Amino acid sequence: MVRYDSPSAANLLRRGALEEDLTVTLPNFAFFKGRIVPYSEAKVGVLTHTFNYGTGVFGGVRGYWNTEEEQLFLFRPYDHYQRFLESAKLLLMELPHSDADLVQFTLDLCRAEDFRTDCYIRPISYFADEIIGVRLHGLNAAVTMMAIPFGSYVENEEGSHVTFSSWRRIDDNMIPARGKISGAYVNSAFIKTDAQRAGFDEAIVLNQDGHIAEGSAENFFIVRKGVVCTPPITENILEGITRRTVIMLLRDDLGVEVVERPLDRTEVYLAEEAFFCGTGVQIAAITAVDHCPIGSGFLGPITKELRRVYFDTVRGRFAKYRDFCVPVYPGKSR
Ligand code: PMP
Repeated sequence: MVRYDSPSAANLLRRGALEEDLTVTLPNFAFFKGRIVPYSEAKVGVLTHTFNYGTGVFGGVRGYWNTEEEQLFLFRPYDHYQRFLESAKLLLMELPHSDADLVQFTLDLCRAEDFRTDCYIRPISYFADEIIGVRLHGLNAAVTMMAIPFGSYVENEEGSHVTFSSWRRIDDNMIPARGKISGAYVNSAFIKTDAQRAGFDEAIVLNQDGHIAEGSAENFFIVRKGVVCTPPITENILEGITRRTVIMLLRDDLGVEVVERPLDRTEVYLAEEAFFCGTGVQIAAITAVDHCPIGSGFLGPITKELRRVYFDTVRGRFAKYRDFCVPVYPGKSR
């Protein structure tokens, strides 16, 4: 019988400490106004539209350091920037950049930082106008990006304990969840803080229909009767790049059936395995939900195998998917 400790004061204190640990040192550089500048020069005025109204879109791309090759690989940057441009389109932003331009800016930025470690790149498209007035039309969009060294996003990647959020996922007719829209992340922030203050690692959030949408910043999967199931993109989820990678790896490389269908809350309690995936979280096993063990209560075989192939893929060690990995430094070694 697996026992789970209730959220305790000690647990809450530990989490407080953890949040502080996440404070990162500032980047050295930023892409700002079309060029790489010292980070301290990448500044916007307090009246900037996006700062006031959340009318921005953003992305999150990971760079993985491959020790054997002494190479830094950006994972699926073209796919990330295609979604970034789609998110911008939803906000009526007219950007003069293609996905290839944005990948090039990212390469320039990572080279300037001279990373020899895993890193995370944060591009933002924002309305640069310094005006009062809530709207999307007749405004000027600009792109900025910065990069930081980055390891794990969650503490318990092999066994997280999550809850169901009492918050609902924003609906497509409120703020589209399929776009990575800055203001919509207040919804994610409510979800995450509630969960962590209650002593959980994360939360699963339901949509307006009461079906499972996703985590605060991750897509969600369960294994039920040997079949991997995940909500379809019409359930108010972000169209995750990791989700796409995971579905492909499961089907094509692990030979597991994957079904995209609406998921009920109670299916999670009956699942053999469950996990979150996303650029930040990577693949995080969920081994308990609301104090109930999922399956055995330990990292399950499908999630374990998936994590193995995923980490090989992102570091450029899986020859078949090498094209997903874009090298930062020219030449084989530096
Ligand atoms: N859902 C939400 C709400 C997210 O913020 C993220 C992180 N970008 C994801 C899912 C996972 O998306 P991706 O795999 O593209 O990082």
